[in-house]
Amino acid sequence: MATDFIYLDYAASTPVDPRVVECMRECSEFGFANPSSNHVAGRLSRANIERAAEQLAALLNVDPANLIWTSGATESDNLGIAGAARFRSHRGKHLVTLLTEHKAVTDVFRMLEKQGFEVTWLKPAEDGRLDPATFAAALREDTQLASIMYVNNETGVMQDIEAIGSICREHDVLLHVDAAQAVGKIAIDLQALPVDLLSLTAHKFYGPKGIGALYIADRPGCHVEPILFGGGQQRRIRPGTLPADLIAGLGLAAEIAQSRIDADLGHLNNLRRRLWAGIQDIDGVLVNGDIESGFPGILNVSALDVEGESLLLELEPFCVATGSACNSKSQEPSYVLRALGRSDLLAQSAIRFSMGRPTTEDEVELAARRYREAIGRLRDLAPAAAS
Ligand SMILES: *Cc1c(COP(=O)(O)O)cnc(C)c1O
Repeated sequence: MATDFIYLDYAASTPVDPRVVECMRECSEFGFANPSSNHVAGRLSRANIERAAEQLAALLNVDPANLIWTSGATESDNLGIAGAARFRSHRGKHLVTLLTEHKAVTDVFRMLEKQGFEVTWLKPAEDGRLDPATFAAALREDTQLASIMYVNNETGVMQDIEAIGSICREHDVLLHVDAAQAVGKIAIDLQALPVDLLSLTAHKFYGPKGIGALYIADRPGCHVEPILFGGGQQRRIRPGTLPADLIAGLGLAAEIAQSRIDADLGHLNNLRRRLWAGIQDIDGVLVNGDIESGFPGILNVSALDVEGESLLLELEPFCVATGSACNSKSQEPSYVLRALGRSDLLAQSAIRFSMGRPTTEDEVELAARRYREAIGRLRDLAPAAAS
């Protein structure tokens, strides 16, 4: 297996910060006991979890008591959406979401549709953004829950969560936000932001895989029914023995992220500017999403007359994503890009570059040169495909 690669796929997952690895190692060695156990070792393990809850709570400006540990954003999305929709079904059966949400959100809504809920699927504008007025117009008397993501994982498009959340509050609609691509990367203050439920996962911000959290606001009517059943942990909202080591890792990753959010954002802005400067004058290259308003860690581009899978091979050893990483086996053009109005062919040619803390200027400049050469080669190989 080749170990030489240049990694530009930070939106899919990030390497674990070495300080987080060390923290988890210590916790696995000394804090391995079941945190539910009432002995010294159990208390030690519990203390690690409590510290992590405080670290994550500080990052989001919430009370640690309002955080539920889960196995990641997939589970948090499932619990937040299905759990709240079921808890509030007396309020109404109508739900609202966006066509460009992550599968961990869209597939929960499809399941709820089969169970008798009615879902309005909103289409964003061509730049990927949802106009808050469009959102407001979709709400009805019986709308009880909406789910709108913060930063899109394929395009980096950011939604106006503040405006959407305010509209939800006016209409007594709960708002769930999939913030897997936002937490630890952009400042989120949940005292100021009108959000009721928020999903996150540690491995998108230099923490371990398999651990995440769901924030549940302490407001009347904001509650979730469990989707898992078992022990009495976490007030039965999400039972199961807590992985104290993973949680400690998430906590430290959150603390590190909080201390560097501005520096990280400045770094990513610089990298994306350089990357885009290196490819923007290539014939027939288009940005998917919007550079000005998007999260700077992601640049998603399509190119006329090239095919994404061939491009991916040409770009090796760069690790980038084509279409959606989660769907790349399906060869289907990305449903996210289709929803922005891209043709099948353009959607299929999409490459997502996503940068992170360790990314260097040299890496993105080399990536831009390799991308330009790869497009040239593929167009020379298959000129017949040119329109
Ligand atoms: C990564 C991601 C998820 C899923 O997170 P897991 O940790 O794999 O469960 C959900 N939503 C978005 C937007 C993501 O980027």
